Amino acid sequence: MSLLSRARSWVERTRPVHPLTRAALQRRWAELPPHVRTPSQVLGRHAVGCEGTHGVFPRCNLACTPCYHSRDANRVATNGGHTVREVRAQMELLVARRGPHAHAQLIGGEVTLLEPDDHAATLAVMREHGREPMSMTHGDVDADYLRRLVTGPDGRRRLDRVSFAGHFDMLMFGRRGMERPPDEASLHPFRRRFAEDVRALKASHGVRSFLAHNMTVTPRNVDQVADVIRTARSFGYRLFSFQPAAFVGDDRRWHDDYGATTGDAVWAQIEAGAGTRLPFRVFQHGDERCNRTTYGFYVGPDYHPILGDRDPRDMAVRDAFLDRLGGVRFTGTPPARLAATLLRVVVRHPSLVGHFGRWLVRRLVRIGPLRLVRGGIHPVTFVMHSFMDAADVGPAWAATQRGETCTEPRLRETQERLAACSYAMAHPDTGELVPACVQHSVLDPVENVALRTLLPLTPVSRASAA
Ligand code: SF4
Repeated sequence: MSLLSRARSWVERTRPVHPLTRAALQRRWAELPPHVRTPSQVLGRHAVGCEGTHGVFPRCNLACTPCYHSRDANRVATNGGHTVREVRAQMELLVARRGPHAHAQLIGGEVTLLEPDDHAATLAVMREHGREPMSMTHGDVDADYLRRLVTGPDGRRRLDRVSFAGHFDMLMFGRRGMERPPDEASLHPFRRRFAEDVRALKASHGVRSFLAHNMTVTPRNVDQVADVIRTARSFGYRLFSFQPAAFVGDDRRWHDDYGATTGDAVWAQIEAGAGTRLPFRVFQHGDERCNRTTYGFYVGPDYHPILGDRDPRDMAVRDAFLDRLGGVRFTGTPPARLAATLLRVVVRHPSLVGHFGRWLVRRLVRIGPLRLVRGGIHPVTFVMHSFMDAADVGPAWAATQRGETCTEPRLRETQERLAACSYAMAHPDTGELVPACVQHSVLDPVENVALRTLLPLTPVSRASAA
């Protein structure tokens, strides 16, 4: 390659925002309902939203109460070939509709029921399509599985980095060594061990990792959320996501009055665990009734949100970030390339130096340089994601499909939230992207019945089928 073409390639690779990303962001913004087009909105300005797989491996070997999967999910065999094929088709549609880069969850059922080779092949397909994949697991997995995931049959590393969301809560039954957890605290050793096993991949195989911790919240465990955060924050999880339970999925597993656990009550517990107020209106993903997010970091035992919603100077930093850096791909970009990209942005918008420089000084003064050096910086994001009840999603989605606006307030709210959804699943057969709420409430039950026939648990021989 000549020097000139090398320079051209470098210029292209360090361009702040890919033109197809920019176009996807513009489409996304135009599609959003007016009530979420606020200065804090991330969708359409920085991100296109999160994506998830469906109809691939719905089976799980633990039992959650509630479980968002339909009752047929556990009657479907986990099949690597099917998974790779379907994920590829879904990713192709996502690239076409949502642009070349996004975060995507490899979610079923239980991802580690896939053979490690199939799991790795699926992650490779997602990466080929510009997706930053996160494997969703219950975390009841052996270190050997993780080793076989990141290394090929020849023993050589095949994945440079992995991203897992480990789901741990006392509403899940059947975990090895803790079949029926009496409380959240009894799961702390399991939370710790899973995190240690994933992080150990760095020392043993040079594999970098990102770890999220997921937890369903019901009236049974809401008052234990704070303790989970206080204890598990030192285990290495970089994101804590809490899902107030909804009446969706298998109704045989609905055991409590989930409506009694309000978003405000859960968020108050998250704040108690973080030990500080968590401003969730700085950055908004979709609708506030669906998502609350606070980005920040620990210095020693103290949590610091990166931006405060009551400080106009911080809000100016937020605006500068979304206006000037919106769409820049931070995750998965090699550091040198990212530095060059940021430099190009700063050259075009030198005021960014002032915004971020002053922000840095304010944080240094507030935290204290000595404490910063002693405590180190540990980034952690807090998220609350509130799925909706199937009884509301079904009629609201049907009305949306008919082009009607519901008048009943609850259904109207459901429609508004679905229209602003930040978590989409792709249907290559129809070309549609649907909210995960619709997937779980309306489409999964039908899909899983079909999958039972396509992927029966006990293969039917020609002789017995005749
Ligand atoms: S509509 Fe459902 S899946 Fe989409 S962001 Fe809201 S709660 Fe999540």
